[in-house]
Amino acid sequence: MSKKNYVRRSFSKKELQCPLTKKCEMNDVFMDKLQALRDEFDHPMIITSGFRSPEHNKAVGGSKNSRHLVGEAVDISTKGMSAIRKHKLLELAFAFGFNGIAQAKTYVHIDTRKTNSTWTY
Ligand SMILES: [Zn+2]
Repeated sequence: MSKKNYVRRSFSKKELQCPLTKKCEMNDVFMDKLQALRDEFDHPMIITSGFRSPEHNKAVGGSKNSRHLVGEAVDISTKGMSAIRKHKLLELAFAFGFNGIAQAKTYVHIDTRKTNSTWTY
């Protein structure tokens, strides 16, 4: 398995890959952080978007500088998650080094970037 396609034990290639091209070029350091976050969170984490090819990113209206394009972003489903659990997830994400954090109605986006940034969709 090539290093670039490496996923961690709590996540499948299927949920992380680009749905259009099936490429899964997640960043290794990012994936280590994500697994550490998952272990500490200790609840199911469903990824609704991971790696994106430029074509797919464009199709879903992603930013042209989206961290999804470089395998350093995931969207995590918050469907059915209590407000307290969602808050815990966001708090832990920041503590584990995810410094781009956004909230949408049914998911949270977390990424790694140069400077801290939070926003809503
Ligand atoms: Zn996202």
